[in-house]
Amino acid sequence: MIRKLITRVFGRKTPGAPGEPAVIGVGRHGIRRDDISNGSRRTVETLQEHGYKAYVVGGAVRDLLAGITPKDYDVATNATPEQVRHCFRRSRIIGRRFQIVHVMMGAETIEVTTFRGHHDQPGGHKAHTDDQGRVLRDNVFGSEKEDAARRDFTVNALYFDPVSETIIDYHHGVADLKQKTLRMIGDPKTRYREDPVRMLRAVRLAAKLGLSIDPEASRPIREMSELIENVPPSRLFDEMLKLLTSGHAVQCVQQLRAEGLHHGLLPLLDVILEQPLGERFVMLALESTDRRVREGKPISPGFLFATLLWHEVLAKWEALMSSGSEGETPARVPARIPALFLAMDEVLDVQAEKLAITRRIAGDIKDIWALQPRFEQRSGKRPYGVLEQPRFKAAYDFLLLRAESGEVDGELGQWWTHFMNGDGDARAAMLLPPKPDEKKKRRRRRKPVPATTE
Ligand code: ATP
Ligand code: MG
Repeated sequence: MIRKLITRVFGRKTPGAPGEPAVIGVGRHGIRRDDISNGSRRTVETLQEHGYKAYVVGGAVRDLLAGITPKDYDVATNATPEQVRHCFRRSRIIGRRFQIVHVMMGAETIEVTTFRGHHDQPGGHKAHTDDQGRVLRDNVFGSEKEDAARRDFTVNALYFDPVSETIIDYHHGVADLKQKTLRMIGDPKTRYREDPVRMLRAVRLAAKLGLSIDPEASRPIREMSELIENVPPSRLFDEMLKLLTSGHAVQCVQQLRAEGLHHGLLPLLDVILEQPLGERFVMLALESTDRRVREGKPISPGFLFATLLWHEVLAKWEALMSSGSEGETPARVPARIPALFLAMDEVLDVQAEKLAITRRIAGDIKDIWALQPRFEQRSGKRPYGVLEQPRFKAAYDFLLLRAESGEVDGELGQWWTHFMNGDGDARAAMLLPPKPDEKKKRRRRRKPVPATTE
């Protein structure tokens, strides 16, 4: 009944000639020109004043319709990048694969893209694809209609004209959004083959917008999931980061598992999620990230990936430490801390290959991990040294999550909270007596044993 009504109001059957878009007036969609950012409105107006077509497009229109504040604005136009650049003093052309123009308006940067065309037009350009059909280059300009057809989901193919306050809707995106359906434009299998990242986008956008993925689009995901392996690591990393920082990470990860998409993404994430402690830790970390995102607080990718991979490090660390018990000579078993560093490197090497974790983020991750055993040392000068570490706060938050998940004693986290907040006297009173083995080590260091000759 409601479905019928919505279909009648927003139209599956579009008025006008077949293949023509629905032009939806403000009375039906409710978005006013003042609802979009100043910068995007002025960008569109300027382009239109120069005689070009221009619209706010994609995620921003979708988010506004869904009652979400867009985080950035994209503009689509029939002007070429060069032509766009000539319309704006503060603008620059960027990108190699497909040139886009960044237009700077006050503090805002608006991404302006020229309408893109089909890869395979009769008598036209042939798409460059890899063996699996993944499109490697799609840098063909096209018409507005073609531009709409090459977007991924119907809700992402909406063009808002702030001057007339109309939405141009080629693929019934407005109706789909009302019906809470994420529907692929075209044949889902073909579209996933062209770009397997669309499978991840489906999961992320469904979680973000509270939509259900149309069965046509979700059915092929399981069998096609391994195509993700062909995606360049840097793109995969960007998409994973978007997903994990979407404010809906818990739901996204659950959905990734439900769709059979978690394998090979964060290699071994599935293994981690299958260990009770690991699962609890990862979920707590994602919940806290989601909370921070929703409160508008900054989050650090280093912290996030450190949490996701920690139980992998723990497993490797333990394996390295116990390798002596399996018949190896004890001399070859690394000491506790060197073993941790070995485990950290091994885990990060695997991930770096898959996800192109940048060097800076890898550095942050290691700092957080490396501080963990130092929290156990609560005597003498050592705790003061830990407080001075630049990554102390992140490492401390990480420790609290470990405590909350049951991996370490809650008392350890409380001790550090009090130590951190205490004044000089309170801190001194909290210090624990040195452990017997610490005393021994210190004494040994002071009096080096002279080398013996044999
Ligand atoms: P968000 O901004 O919330 O991450 P978004 O949909 O705006 O989501 P962007 O990466 O900003 O994502 O892309 C802008 C628009 O470009 C999308 O709305 C969609 O129309 C199109 N688009 C992005 N990625 C793809 C893709 N892989 N295949 C087809 N179209 C895409
Ligand atoms: Mg966007």
